[in-house]
Amino acid sequence: MSARLAIVVPAYNEAQALPGLQQRLAPVLDRLDARATVLYVDDGSRDDTWAVIQGLADRDRRVGGLRLSRNFGKELALTAGLDHVRTHADAALVLDADGQDPPELIPEFVARWQQGADVVYGVRSRREGDSWFKRTTAHLFYRLMGRLSSTPVPRDTGDFRLMSRRVLDALAQLRERHRFMKGLFAWVGYEQVPLEYEREPRSQGHSKFNYWKLWNFALEGITSFSTVPLRMATYFGLLTAVVAFGYGAWIIAKTLVYGDPVPGYPSLMTVVLFLGGIQLLALGIIGEYLGRLYDESKQRPLYLVDAWRQAAQEDVGEG
Ligand code: UDP
Ligand code: MG
Repeated sequence: MSARLAIVVPAYNEAQALPGLQQRLAPVLDRLDARATVLYVDDGSRDDTWAVIQGLADRDRRVGGLRLSRNFGKELALTAGLDHVRTHADAALVLDADGQDPPELIPEFVARWQQGADVVYGVRSRREGDSWFKRTTAHLFYRLMGRLSSTPVPRDTGDFRLMSRRVLDALAQLRERHRFMKGLFAWVGYEQVPLEYEREPRSQGHSKFNYWKLWNFALEGITSFSTVPLRMATYFGLLTAVVAFGYGAWIIAKTLVYGDPVPGYPSLMTVVLFLGGIQLLALGIIGEYLGRLYDESKQRPLYLVDAWRQAAQEDVGEG
């Protein structure tokens, strides 16, 4: 029996893009030296994505679909997809619906996996479709993450990757609500090998990630994988306290020597505002962590499934 590979495609309002993707995907899967299935995860789309997925599943026995009850975001759509394929696949590969991750590369991912790698992750050597600003900020973010986090996240990797069964099982144990997938993938460990590729421009429509979302994504990454900001607040407070003590001593000495002719309004104002600012900043940092702690403590399910249509090929049993 040959190995079973499951391809997971998160899709949010991708009705336009999916047929084209499937058309590129099918011939690749035909030639693949493994039994492959595709699971399209409809992340609560508001267009016809689900109907399109049904259509694709009708025409191709390898195609299945999963519909979430609402839009949960890409990270959770991915998690839902991986959870569902885990039981019947030896490996799973994640692919963006917009054709930015070329499906033609799948055989190379599979080859490296068959050579023994547990994770094969795509590294973007060029990002054609992305603006200069997006590339620079992404680069800075990965450098910062590398500094802050104890589990280094490989730079310039997307979610385009293949994972073996035991990595999927490991991921299934990480049930945190705030999911910074790139970090989780790295945290798992095992043998991970890079695969370089050129990221293509989006085939249809536009990116769902604006800069505000990307900023929040970066915050998520940092707070999920590092407590350095908290420690920085401590050191910053310590430094301020030391400076304040020095300043206090100087004021006392000055008053003893020269008396206290005129109280210093400007210096008072400066100190009050400065300390107020520092305190609010530190509170904000604590708040970021506390809010996440609160979310975790509620223990809600990560996502809810509206409908699941298994690929026809799977229903027939093992081949
Ligand atoms: N996506 C999703 N849920 C969302 C947003 C995006 O499942 O809430 C999917 C989207 O359909 C696509 C992938 O995540 O398959 C990447 O999205 P996009 O191309 O917008 O991001 P970018 O390539 O700009 O990072
Ligand atoms: Mg994209």
